[in-house]
Amino acid sequence: MKFKQFLTEEIFDLKRKYVHFNKLLFNDELPDINLRYGISKRIGGSAKAIAMKKKSNSITRYNPNAGVESIKPTEIMISTFWDLDEDSFNGIFVHEMIHIYLYSKGIAYTSGNDRGHGTEFIQKLKELQKKVSFTIPETEVMDVRMSQDLQQKMFDIVLVDKPGWIGVVVFNGGYFDKGLDEVKQYYERVNAYTKHNELLLVRSDHPSLLQYRINRKMKRQMASQEMDKKIFDEIKKNGSIILTIAS
Ligand SMILES: [Zn+2]
Repeated sequence: MKFKQFLTEEIFDLKRKYVHFNKLLFNDELPDINLRYGISKRIGGSAKAIAMKKKSNSITRYNPNAGVESIKPTEIMISTFWDLDEDSFNGIFVHEMIHIYLYSKGIAYTSGNDRGHGTEFIQKLKELQKKVSFTIPETEVMDVRMSQDLQQKMFDIVLVDKPGWIGVVVFNGGYFDKGLDEVKQYYERVNAYTKHNELLLVRSDHPSLLQYRINRKMKRQMASQEMDKKIFDEIKKNGSIILTIAS
């Protein structure tokens, strides 16, 4: 089965950024890790590590309350949900690199803050802030932008154009963050039965979407609601196409 995947705003070369800031700010001490784009409307990015807990060899995701034997940084994810300019992007990226730096120094749990933004984090942030012109944020939670965004509500939708029917299936914005694979598999099956003219997974804030019933999750059978062809085309033109299943 053929499909195309479009990462919405993959503007910056993550590997190049990482190499650049590793040299500029971290004395080339940070290890090679996985770098990827993701979609999150809550946070601008995240940093992951794998921790080995004391008294057992079981590998678990980083848990600040567990007795940590050793910790291995593994990944930085940067959200493509936000339309970041280069300064904001660099700020978030270096913020995540500070997490990686602390993990690599064996600091799984910063003092006084269970989200990793405690004393050791702030100390490093202040040191690096003197060396760069952009602002390194103290948290990756996107509160301010979020409140602006809510006035223009974002939806994750499936645009359905099949013989004799144009419709839409609406989910809350962010649903594709976790549900993309399930949605994709369902509609690939559907398209195998009925060849669609177009079947697109799109993130859109088009105001006409406010009128539709919102699905909280995938069901065994998904019914699309009828949509005007003109609106359909507007959304296709202005929204972010996340996945094309048929075109
Ligand atoms: Zn952070």
